[in-house]
Amino acid sequence: MAQIDGLPPLREVIATHDLQAKKALGQNFLLDLNLTARIARAAGDLTGADVIEVGPGPGGLTRGLLAEGARRVLAIEKDPRCLPALAEIAAAYPGRLQVIGGDALEIDPLDHLTPPIKIVANLPYNVGTELLVRWLTPPAWPPFWTSLTLMFQKEVAERIVARPGSKAYGRLALLAQWRSEARIVLTLPPSAFTPPPKIDSAVVHLTALPQPRYPAPAKLLERVVAAAFNQRRKMLRAALKSLDPQIEGRLDRLGIAPTARAEEIGLEQFCALARDLDTPRA
Ligand code: SAM
Repeated sequence: MAQIDGLPPLREVIATHDLQAKKALGQNFLLDLNLTARIARAAGDLTGADVIEVGPGPGGLTRGLLAEGARRVLAIEKDPRCLPALAEIAAAYPGRLQVIGGDALEIDPLDHLTPPIKIVANLPYNVGTELLVRWLTPPAWPPFWTSLTLMFQKEVAERIVARPGSKAYGRLALLAQWRSEARIVLTLPPSAFTPPPKIDSAVVHLTALPQPRYPAPAKLLERVVAAAFNQRRKMLRAALKSLDPQIEGRLDRLGIAPTARAEEIGLEQFCALARDLDTPRA
């Protein structure tokens, strides 16, 4: 076990604070501090950045982030059993770790932070996708964060980086790739976690682009993509009919085959369609 700080090994922390993992909270802990430091490094240079961590649990990744030099870490944890263990880490890094007990879906951490802000987390699987979508769909761009470094179930990570034509391609890929650069930086087997989950996990690193890759009205693009992939086996002219009864004419005009299916359509074409739907028909 790596000695990245003067704190006790995580197995000892878990025993001392009786942190038996709870499935309902998506608790699969990383106990290897070498590994958590590696994930922290995947987030890039942390020395001048404030970091938001969702779900620190017993604090393995938190310790990695602090040891790698994060200016400040703001950690949001729903399980009150973890708070005493996290308080010990805060004491070892005076003024650099703030822990908020509560649900990350309900807490706005921004009041407490100074840009640049990075988000790094081994996300609880039950709220991971919802948080990602929120971070990717703010009303204005660029967002408050400069990068997201997030552990997901591998299948979700593959959906984020998927390209057109693949089974994994859909709403998540388009939302992520429209306004950020997304890549998988690390894949981990179940044995990396305690307790081990049933499937592999992967860390995705997303960097916010200064502006979207192609112009498009955000809300409309989200609606088009949702409608297209909700019925992904249907042809576009049927899947998108609810958005405009004259959708077939619009698709024709844009050079998109009305008989194509959503998974064949690239980001640039979806953006063109959202822009077209934003203008009244001539
Ligand atoms: N970061 C730790 C690690 O890597 O070992 C724990 C990761 S574990 C996969 C997910 C953590 O998120 C758990 O500690 C769990 O209690 C916490 N959690 C679950 N739902 C949450 C929520 N809605 N808001 C904040 N934390 C949550």
